[in-house]
Amino acid sequence: MESAYGLATRELARIREENRAEQTRRMEEVRSKNPDYTRIERALAQQGTALVRRVLAGKAEISDIEDAVRKLQKERAELLKREGFPKDYLEDIYACAHCRDTGFLEDGSRCSCLKHLAVSFAGANANLTEYMKEQTFDRADFSLFAKQPAENGREPLTYIKRAFERALKFAETFDTTHANLLLMGNAGTGKTFLSSCIANYALKRQKTVYYQSAFSLFDMLEKLKFGRLNDEEQEKAESISRYLYEVDLLIIDDLGTEFVSAYSTAALFDLINSRQIQHKSTILSTNLNHQGLEQIYSRRLLSRMVGDFEVLTLIGQDLRMQQKLKQK
Ligand SMILES: [Zn+2]
Repeated sequence: MESAYGLATRELARIREENRAEQTRRMEEVRSKNPDYTRIERALAQQGTALVRRVLAGKAEISDIEDAVRKLQKERAELLKREGFPKDYLEDIYACAHCRDTGFLEDGSRCSCLKHLAVSFAGANANLTEYMKEQTFDRADFSLFAKQPAENGREPLTYIKRAFERALKFAETFDTTHANLLLMGNAGTGKTFLSSCIANYALKRQKTVYYQSAFSLFDMLEKLKFGRLNDEEQEKAESISRYLYEVDLLIIDDLGTEFVSAYSTAALFDLINSRQIQHKSTILSTNLNHQGLEQIYSRRLLSRMVGDFEVLTLIGQDLRMQQKLKQK
């Protein structure tokens, strides 16, 4: 995925090109309706050249040229009016008056139009699967959870409902509370479902979101680190690896399924740590319990890494399996 700002910048370039093409078309239109327009434009260009020559020759007297230009501009305005065109028909066209579609303001900062474009691209590139895009808080269906048998006296429905409430609150507030979530539970107990609901809600709130499974994520980072990608893949991986640090909400699914190496562990720690310092929220999900995670990342590292994460535990049987069995 290209970074959201990369895509937004290209979109602005496309808008500029489109507007220039429209401007050219309008000139042709005016020209074909009244050929006298060509004469006026040529005369204006000649006056421009004359002005440059005069200035380069060090002459201060330019009022005659200014008069001629004013007269021609008036003629042009009258021609437009006579032919029924709007007054500003041939002026430069901009979608954004603040930055004239450059994306940047005079002080060098990013214009809001560029930011909005970047957000919309980030939304389109959250990397959610088709299944995940369908999962929203308001379409949640707990009927499958309700049919689940209790586990050691614990009801799966109670757990998913509690996690659901917390997930909704998180989706509404993570950018101000800077909270982080660790979703724990066996496969098919609703972790991806909750992540998806949060992701879609955050996107609706114009936040940027990026979802990736731990396996694919660290596979990509490892290949990038050790130069095992072709040019195109490398460019894409570089832009994703930057985006991982910038995106408002990062979701790493199935932690513990990646190929664990000294490098992947260090990369994961750096990513989570940097995001916490920048007050950016992260959601981790895993099929492993605490013991399992400790075996992979060591107790010390794990507590430093996810010590501030709020744990949401889900219990029950694999709902995806149940759904598959039902379909048979
Ligand atoms: Zn702008």
